[in-house]
Amino acid sequence: MPEEIREKSNFIWDAIREDIAAGKNDGRVQTRFPPEPNGYLHIGHVKALSVDFLTAEKFGGVCNLRFDDTNPAKEDVEFVDAIQQDIHWLGFDWGERMFFGSDYFEQTYEYAVALIKKGLAYVCELTPEQFREYRGDLSHPAVSPWRDRPVEENLDLFERMKNGEFPEGRYTLRAKIDLASGNFNMRDPVLYRIRYIEHHRQGTRWCIFPMYDFAHPIQDAIEGITHSLCSLEYEDHRPLYNWVIENCPVPSHPRQIEFARLGINYTVLSKRKLRRLVEEGYVSGWDDPRMPTLCGLRRRGYTPAAVRNFIERTGVAKVNSTAEYGFLEHCLREDLNATARRVMAVLNPVKLVLTNYPEGQTEYFEVENNPENAADGVRKVSFSRELYIESDDFMEVPVPKYNRFYPGGEVRLKGAYIARCTGCKKDENGRVTEVYAECDMESRGGNAPDGRKVRGTIHWVNTQDCLDAEVRVYSNLFSDPDPDASGKDFIACLNPDSLKTLHGCKVERCLENASSGERFQFMRLGYFCPDSRDSAPGRLVFNRAVTLKDSWGKQHKG
Ligand code: ATP
Ligand code: MG
Repeated sequence: MPEEIREKSNFIWDAIREDIAAGKNDGRVQTRFPPEPNGYLHIGHVKALSVDFLTAEKFGGVCNLRFDDTNPAKEDVEFVDAIQQDIHWLGFDWGERMFFGSDYFEQTYEYAVALIKKGLAYVCELTPEQFREYRGDLSHPAVSPWRDRPVEENLDLFERMKNGEFPEGRYTLRAKIDLASGNFNMRDPVLYRIRYIEHHRQGTRWCIFPMYDFAHPIQDAIEGITHSLCSLEYEDHRPLYNWVIENCPVPSHPRQIEFARLGINYTVLSKRKLRRLVEEGYVSGWDDPRMPTLCGLRRRGYTPAAVRNFIERTGVAKVNSTAEYGFLEHCLREDLNATARRVMAVLNPVKLVLTNYPEGQTEYFEVENNPENAADGVRKVSFSRELYIESDDFMEVPVPKYNRFYPGGEVRLKGAYIARCTGCKKDENGRVTEVYAECDMESRGGNAPDGRKVRGTIHWVNTQDCLDAEVRVYSNLFSDPDPDASGKDFIACLNPDSLKTLHGCKVERCLENASSGERFQFMRLGYFCPDSRDSAPGRLVFNRAVTLKDSWGKQHKG
């Protein structure tokens, strides 16, 4: 953990310190991260799992990974594997402590029986429609005609529910708490329901499944979790969490503490919505580089350091807030600026012919791989009479203040020579097909011998020594800053221009065997990485991770 994080505190750590000072749990701290394996992790989950893992680390404790698979629908081993991979990618580790909520079904059932025996749970026959109808409101208590069913009858019915004697919906098991409570979660909540669905680990062994609010505190207590950290929407469930802990004969007494969810503008952080984007084909998959999933961010070019920095710097809050997507990008730039190798690539190429440069000659310029990090060494870049430059680095009729190539204008070819543009060739449609210039042969390395000023510097690649590439240029997946707002049709907020695919781009030959874990700065253009699915030697495909221009950093300077 970085020193600045270790030094900092937050309200959760303050609360834990108080518990330790009061001698609770013998000073032990144990947390858990409980993802539901029904989708891939997104960056919002990183907030939760960082809080869980860093809190454990901070207090010398451990953090369990627990798959919350009590709901049999929609859960899948594909997600179980991907979630583990994503957490490891971030650099967190649960050691041997990986659990499945469903492994506690037997124990959970026994606790339910114990509640029935204490007169604290009963089998109810209200249909879902009646349940809603009898729920009451703030000025009227709920009603349940089955509350006073005798214990023996409850035990018998509950066992027969388990044995599969009744259809779905016929009975539920409910806690007997308080039908008049101002907190509706306490109005005799359902603890168990009947579902005839095959479970991904339990098969058809169970046809009754515990509700989250019942299962979760029990799972925490069985594992010896001391602090059950969860997002703010569970605040109203805390009284029920505590009720379960107090009334079931559980082996330990965990404490639930809530923190704010992370929101980010221009994206959605809800598995249900992300799933829709995938299933309805708005993106190419969970790992589409525009997705806020960890696999999407990784494929886009994000690094674990950038993601963790972003999460740690957005802090642990008590009130929900929305972070700026620009800040996430800022954190990526910061990391890549320090670590990415600089190379040259031309996305929209036009040929530049240096008419006074000897035909057939090749020379090499030594350039630093990363000026921010001398340890990255140098490489040789080849140069010849014909180069590719960006087509917008030439204007036949320049706009004011344009300091790149135009007839008569002088430009520095990055790291090589100064050249003066002499004209261009156009096709029958008026499109520029070649640009002509003359090299100042005295300016090798890019410095004018007479010290004259040359304002513009452009990048280039050698036509004799470059590779073709496809480059995918991304922008925000949504054009609306708040597509996640309740009531909004988030599909209608999608940005139709979020992906632009450029073909026929030209990159330095040194990228021939670039691997998908590598990140590069394409000079003047941004940070890029080979696409982990589609790029291969001989068919290079790069993703733009982020542009160079940091408007977030500019706005937040000082
Ligand atoms: P979602 O449906 O939004 O993807 P979830 O809560 O249904 O989230 P889980 O797999 O159950 O998904 O999430 C595991 C943990 O991650 C939960 O404790 C949940 O509160 C937390 N979590 C999910 N989204 C966020 C978020 N945006 N910010 C902070 N914590 C989050
Ligand atoms: Mg959940």
